[in-house]
Amino acid sequence: MTRQRKLLTALCLLTILLCGCTFRMDQEPTDLAVCQSPLQSLIDGNQRFASGHPLHQNQDSQRRSDVAGEQHPFAIVVGCSDSRVPPEIIFDQGLGDLFVVRSAGNIVDDQALGSIEYAVEHLHAHVIVVLGHDNCGAVKAAVDGGDVPGHIGSITAAIAPAVETARHDPGDLLDNAINENVLRVVNQIKTSEPILGHEVEAGQLTVVGARYNLSTGTVRWLTEP
Ligand SMILES: [Zn+2]
Repeated sequence: MTRQRKLLTALCLLTILLCGCTFRMDQEPTDLAVCQSPLQSLIDGNQRFASGHPLHQNQDSQRRSDVAGEQHPFAIVVGCSDSRVPPEIIFDQGLGDLFVVRSAGNIVDDQALGSIEYAVEHLHAHVIVVLGHDNCGAVKAAVDGGDVPGHIGSITAAIAPAVETARHDPGDLLDNAINENVLRVVNQIKTSEPILGHEVEAGQLTVVGARYNLSTGTVRWLTEP
């Protein structure tokens, strides 16, 4: 057993003691998600990343082989395409752990909602994190307004309602618009019909909003699960 796997086993056993989750003692854990709640796995992973002590779990050739035939991601992340906010890295996860939908400004259209529905219905992921971040260029473009070339306008148009709502809030407009944009997308997913809204109402799907800090590497949760 490698040092990393020994550490994973110890963390899993500790979680069992603390949380009472079920885990067969004769099994060697392949990742922490098998014995933790999805959100807790993301919280712990981000703490490891932000503190400079990532485990880089599930990124080796064995894991690649294990998930080649099928995938069972434990969470869905709707994030910004920004090159500084890759979900697998900032949550310290690996192959097959996260189902990720990314767009500039972490907005969702019908295609993105369809991707999320697939992950919920067919891959049985039951937690969605909508992840914004500070200094988001897409939100800043929406705040700045004016003409933008090509299809970029469809992005700023989707973010514009969040900017208008944020204008009524005290404080920095860009900062508030980033938060408001996350909250709007959370609500958009929660009320999406016919699948996602129904799953939320049935208590089968959790959607939370969060915000990543580019400087510290930490994720702050904007909504309660
Ligand atoms: Zn961004």
